[in-house]
Order: sequence, then structure tokens, then C-alpha cells
Amino acid sequence: MDSLFSSPCYRWPVIDFMETEVVAVERADSGWLVTTADTLFYPEGGGQPADWGSIMSVNSGVRYEARPSGHEAALLIQGDFPPDSEPPFAQGDRAALSLDRERRVRHTICHTAQHLLSAVLLELWQAPTVSMHLGDSGNTVDADISHFTAEMARKTEETVQAAIEADLPVISHICPPEDAVNFPLRRELPQGEDTVRVVEIQGVDFSPCCGTHLPSLGKIGLLRISGWEKYKGKTRIHFNAGHDAWAFDSALRDTLVEAASILEVNPPELPGRITALRDHAAELEKKLKALSALWAEGEVSALGEAASERAAPGRAVVSRSYEKCDAELVTLAAKECSLKLGVPAVFSSVPSLTLICTAPKGSSLNLKELLLPVFSAHQGRGGGGPSMVRGVFDSPEDLEKCRLECAVPF
Ligand SMILES: [Zn+2]
Repeated sequence: MDSLFSSPCYRWPVIDFMETEVVAVERADSGWLVTTADTLFYPEGGGQPADWGSIMSVNSGVRYEARPSGHEAALLIQGDFPPDSEPPFAQGDRAALSLDRERRVRHTICHTAQHLLSAVLLELWQAPTVSMHLGDSGNTVDADISHFTAEMARKTEETVQAAIEADLPVISHICPPEDAVNFPLRRELPQGEDTVRVVEIQGVDFSPCCGTHLPSLGKIGLLRISGWEKYKGKTRIHFNAGHDAWAFDSALRDTLVEAASILEVNPPELPGRITALRDHAAELEKKLKALSALWAEGEVSALGEAASERAAPGRAVVSRSYEKCDAELVTLAAKECSLKLGVPAVFSSVPSLTLICTAPKGSSLNLKELLLPVFSAHQGRGGGGPSMVRGVFDSPEDLEKCRLECAVPF
């Protein structure tokens, strides 16, 4: 049948090379647009990316990288051609087209796998596919279902794998739309076409489609659902097929083996080991919190007497430099001192190069106005509010000078 679907790009096995005639050449924004009598290249469409390849002049042997552009047999040769340059081809020239076979095969496998996956999602979970995308960074199907689980993913993969291993034939029916409606179609027919193509996975799925497909499912080899997420009230399912699915499994295995090695268990024991570690970490955090509070109370006792000896009520301040405590611990001590002793605290954490200043509750002091200019004078970068400010410094010397200066205004 002489139709859109008679072009070599719709047939399998893949034709990598063909000779054809140039029928038109025109300037494009980013190069030259060359239209040929026939084409090898599948144009982008239906969620499947376009083929890539090259076009070579049979006369001169000059080859150009080319990609489909616009209509069916137009190829864009991208390049920085000078405005007065001669066109790379003339009408009537013989041209040799060459296909990036690896890219085509990958897309064909993923595209055929997507038909099968969509059919299985509909059969098992009554989840119709509303859109799909195939790309270099992964493939997705958006299914009209509000939830998806690991058990559903496993069952889906199992059903898909059984069909792949049965190597069911994939059949193209090229016919007028009035005949195509007799098939149990999974998707609506395109409107306004004289001829349509219904792609059948034998007895399993009938879908109008203009993409490239395998002759049977066996060549898919493997399909893996690599993840899923909620997307606009539906579920976006990520999948890999063929070599990509093997690569996904392989990378996952390597990750598991590495994680198991770090935790000194066998891979199947990972969930139990991780749960035990998580519980242990929560237990330690509780203990650390209790010990920190105890330590802060000790600081209050140690510093309380010094503070009360300083000056008249309302003029006292506690200040100390901590050589071994991080900013989080020192902040706890400062807050506790201001709360229990009712005085401002000016504490520094040397390991964190951080100065923490706190004011007692109900104080009229505005530490932000009072101390941030002092921070700046010592190359400190800080922030905070009226009752607490924190600053980070470039060196222990700057930190210490600023601490001593900040303890003065009170
Ligand atoms: Zn298709």
C-alpha cells in the first residue's frame, strides 16, 4: 500500500542505509533543510523521539549529520554556514542516508514495551494510559490511577514478562478508519486521516500508532518498572526496557552489594539491618538530648555565681568560649543560662567559629540592633532577632575579639 506507512522507517528489520534523490533544498535558521524523495528517519511523534543519522552527497562524498525536521522527508543539516555559502545539495542530486541504528533500536524496543505495559496496566488495574514519553533519560507512562504499590509493580512486571517470553507477534494493520473501528481499540483513532495503522500485540492490545515497533515481543527481553510518583492526580510510572532494563538491574545490584558490604550483611538482610540501625540512632538521639540538657544545667550552675557577682541587677552578663562544643550545644547552654539566670549570654563555639548571644525572656534588649554591627566589625556574618543572634567568623581570633566586645555593652 502506498501510504505514509510504506516508508522504510516503519519497517523491520531496520534498514541502516539507503540511496535517494534530493527534491528540494532551502535555507533554515540553523542550517539547511534538505527534502529527499524517501527517508529512513522516523520523525518525532506519538511520544517517540526522532531518529538521528547522516546524509551524504553521492557525488562529492561529503557527509553531514542530519535530523528530521518538520514534514516527513525533510532533514535539517545544522551548522554555522556563511550567508553566501553554496547549498550542500542541489535538486536532483543523489544522496545516501545513514541511520543511527543503536538509537533507533533503543526507541523501538522501548516503544513496543510501552504498548505492552499500557495494555497490562489496563487489564490488571483498569488504569488507562493518558500519555507517555520516551527519552534518553528514561521512559514514562502516565496511568489514570490514583495509587500504585510495590506489589502492583511486581504483578505488572510479572504479567509483562510472561508476554515477552511468549514472544507474541506484533502486527500492523494499515487500513481506512472505517475498518479500524472494528478492532477493540485501546485508544481513539486520529481524526481526519484517510489511512490509519492499528498496531496489534497478538490478541492482547490494539492501538492506533505511527511509531516504530518490533516484529514480536521477545526482542524486548526485559522490562523493569524503576519507580512511580503521583502526577496531576494520576500515577507516573517510570520504566526501562531491553538493554536499559538490564543496565538498571545491574546498577541496582551493585548499589545493594555496596550497601550490604558497608553494613557487613548479605543483601537480603539489608532491610532488617537498616531498621535496627534506625532504631538505635533514635535511641542515641534521645540519650544525647537528655545529656545535653543535663550539661546545660551544669553550665548554668557554674556560671550563675560569676554572673551575679558582676554588677547591679540588669547589668550582668555571662560569657564563655567553648573549645570543644559545637554551635548547637553552645546555643542550648546560652538559652538555658538566659532563661535560668535572667541575664544575657555571649557564648562562642570555637569548632563552629560561631558566636551565640541570647537575652532573657521579657528583656527590653534588642540584640539584633545592639550586636550585629559588632559582628560586622569583626568580619562576622550573622542574623537573628531581638532575643537571639548568631554569627559565623573567619578565624578563631576574630571570633574571640568579637565575643569579648559583645559582652561589654550590657
Ligand atoms: Zn506504537
